[in-house]
Amino acid sequence: MPNKIIVAIDGYSSCGKSTIAKGLAKRLNYIYIDTGAMYRATTLYFLNHNIDLTDDKAVRAALGNVRIDFHFNKEKGSSDTYLNGIYVEDEIREMRVSSHVSPVSTLLPVRGFLVDQQRAMAEAGGVILDGRDIGTHVFPDAELKIFMTASFEIRTKRRYDELTLKVSNVSLEEIKENLSTRDRIDSTRAHSPLRMADDARELDNSDLSISDQLDLAMSWIEEITLSDSE
Ligand code: C5P
Repeated sequence: MPNKIIVAIDGYSSCGKSTIAKGLAKRLNYIYIDTGAMYRATTLYFLNHNIDLTDDKAVRAALGNVRIDFHFNKEKGSSDTYLNGIYVEDEIREMRVSSHVSPVSTLLPVRGFLVDQQRAMAEAGGVILDGRDIGTHVFPDAELKIFMTASFEIRTKRRYDELTLKVSNVSLEEIKENLSTRDRIDSTRAHSPLRMADDARELDNSDLSISDQLDLAMSWIEEITLSDSE
C-alpha cells in the first residue's frame, strides 16, 4: 500500500468497532488505538481514588497522576492497557467501570488530556483509532471515517456473550441499561458528543460477517490510498 493513512472509526457502544479496528490493523500492519480503553483506565483511577467529578481542581490534579500505556500482547495479537504500569485490561471492561465511564468522559479536562495523547500517538499515520469523537474532533481530517451501527438487540447480545465469557454475574437487563445510558450520555454531552461526521461512511454490520466488514473497509482504504497516489 503506497501511503499510510489515519482511519477513524466511531459509533455507539458495542457496535463491533474494536473487532474491525483490530482486524484492519492486522491486515495493514497499522497501529490500533483503543481510545475507549483510555477513558476506561482514567475512570478506574478516579474510582480507586474517590475523585469527586464536580470538583474541577481535584479532577485536574488526578489527571496529573494518570499514565496510560498500551503493550502489544503477542499471544493475543492485540494490545493490553496499563494504568500507571499495572495491567488493567480486564478490570476496565467490568461493569463497575462501564457504569461510570460516560460521566467521566463528559469532563472537558479529561477529554483534553486524552485527546492530546491520541493525537501524539497517531502523528506518523498508519493508525486506526476507534471511539466516539475521532472523525468529528480528534482527527477531523482523517482520510477514512467509518461510522458503525448495528441494531440494539444485536449489540446487547454481543456484549452479553462477550461479558459472560469472563464474568458470570451480569444480566442481559443490566447490559441493556448500561448501553442505552452510555449512548444517551455520549451523544448528548456538551463536549465533542458522539455523532456521525458529515463525510463518514456508514457501516451497518447487523447482518454482515466480520470478514465481510473487513473486506468492505479494505475496499474503501484501497480506493482512498490508490486515488491519493495517482
Ligand atoms: O469504546 P468503549 O465502549 O470502550 O468506550 C467507553 C466509553 O468511553 C464510552 O461509552 C464513552 O463514554 C467514552 N469514550 C469517549 N470518547 C471516545 C472513546 C470512548 O467519550 N473517543
